[in-house]
Amino acid sequence: TPKASGGKEVKKETKLGLSVKKDENFGEWYSELVLLGEMIDYYDVSGCYILRPWSYSIWETIKDFLDTEIKKLGVENGYFPLFVSQTALTREKDHVEGFAPEVAWVTKSGDTDLEMPIAVRPTSETVMYPSYAKWIRSHRDLPLKINQWNNVVRWEFKHPTPFIRSREFLWQEGHTAFATKEEADVEVHQILDLYRQVYEDYLAVPVIKGIKSEKEKFAGGLYTTTVEAFVPSTGRGIQGATSHCLGQNFAKMFDITFENKDKERVMVWQNSWGLTTRTIGVMVMVHGDDKGLVLPPKVAPVQAVVIPIPMKEFSGEVMMNASAEVVSILKGAGIRAKDDTRDVYTPPWKYNHWELKGVPLRVELGPRDFASKKVVLVRRDTGEKEAVAWDKLADRANELLQTIQKDLLEKARKERDACIEKVSCWEEFMTALNAKKMVLAPWCDETEVEEEVKKMSADGEGGAAKTLCMPFDQLPLPEGTKCFKSGKPAKRWALWGRSY
Ligand code: AMP
Repeated sequence: TPKASGGKEVKKETKLGLSVKKDENFGEWYSELVLLGEMIDYYDVSGCYILRPWSYSIWETIKDFLDTEIKKLGVENGYFPLFVSQTALTREKDHVEGFAPEVAWVTKSGDTDLEMPIAVRPTSETVMYPSYAKWIRSHRDLPLKINQWNNVVRWEFKHPTPFIRSREFLWQEGHTAFATKEEADVEVHQILDLYRQVYEDYLAVPVIKGIKSEKEKFAGGLYTTTVEAFVPSTGRGIQGATSHCLGQNFAKMFDITFENKDKERVMVWQNSWGLTTRTIGVMVMVHGDDKGLVLPPKVAPVQAVVIPIPMKEFSGEVMMNASAEVVSILKGAGIRAKDDTRDVYTPPWKYNHWELKGVPLRVELGPRDFASKKVVLVRRDTGEKEAVAWDKLADRANELLQTIQKDLLEKARKERDACIEKVSCWEEFMTALNAKKMVLAPWCDETEVEEEVKKMSADGEGGAAKTLCMPFDQLPLPEGTKCFKSGKPAKRWALWGRSY
């Protein structure tokens, strides 16, 4: 039994840490990590997970940022009901076809069958738009911009994965209506850029912006834009968040019209856009390592953890006060800091524990550090250590947190970029795909060809390749370039990959 300070016996410590390595069994590693890192707990309804404070706090940070930014664009928050009637849900044909297999229905109350089953929202277009039809009368009612922070339910049949693909998830869904398509187009891109900022500036995950193919676009929409992330360990792309222009399809079905300045009744142009708790899973997959989570400082619930190292002359009140003083220096510098003074655990146990939870900076405070008014700072991402005097701590800790934030993004970008391969024919395409890469290929932009690629690239295990997006940032496409698959004239470069 290990001894803590003053010879007090400490509780038998369970072995901490992950039993699998990231590059040995990624799936197991991820499941263990989100559980032991205290991000989630499992639940007895398959595909549903408990978000513990450690992950919920990250969601709150994302939410605070995004909520502030959309309000600057004039978006207001509201709340619509969880349930949707069959009539409303089935109003837009393509939309309901897209979602039908995943809709959960309430058919009973107690023992009594409901006269008409009601659906749980998989997304809220059909919940909100009957009201939009009532509220929008004249051009003076436009634009209408409402967002809600809520949960939705999609009874997914693909393998559920915490954060990445769950049956109930948290998100925001923005629903806006404009007089003109031009205004709607502008907003689609403004929102997409906010989503990019969530990934790159907060989660330190690089994303590629682009437009979805016809096959992959939102059911019932006009076009879908996306930020696509990448998980190097599995070589899979993942749809980070989507900003859709719905065009006038829903306006037509829900009769959302307004009287324009020339006193004609015309249909509105609509957008919808959503970002979910999937963000957190992508961050874990990209940055986590064999010791545990690696949280980017901007979202870490605790950015610096102070761990005092007790010794005879440095214990009890002296140690507690010193530790509290270091915490208060850090807090004074605007850093989310705390100390771990629990005397039932040894310092090495605490190091492992906070590494597992991904805290960006460890602040070690031992007797000699105390005597010389210093601490030792240890970076979670690189393990680098340095001694810093208390009076330099505020500045240096902030500097290091910023550096870690930047370095994580750069490292992830390098890894991601090394996994994008340009190809020109089917053989090269499959070779790159099987080497766990995303593939940039000239494409004829035909749905049948995408379906063919999907069929031919299915390998049972890794799944089939599909278009992730047509990046907005297009490489030059010389005259006469042929589609890598069909040999027809290529219209643009598409990014393909196996995906989540
Ligand atoms: P959609 O309304 O279908 O465009 O979905 C919006 C975003 O939600 C997508 O871009 C995904 O990033 C995310 N998403 C979709 N399905 C799930 C799921 N089952 N769990 C978590 N996030 C999801």
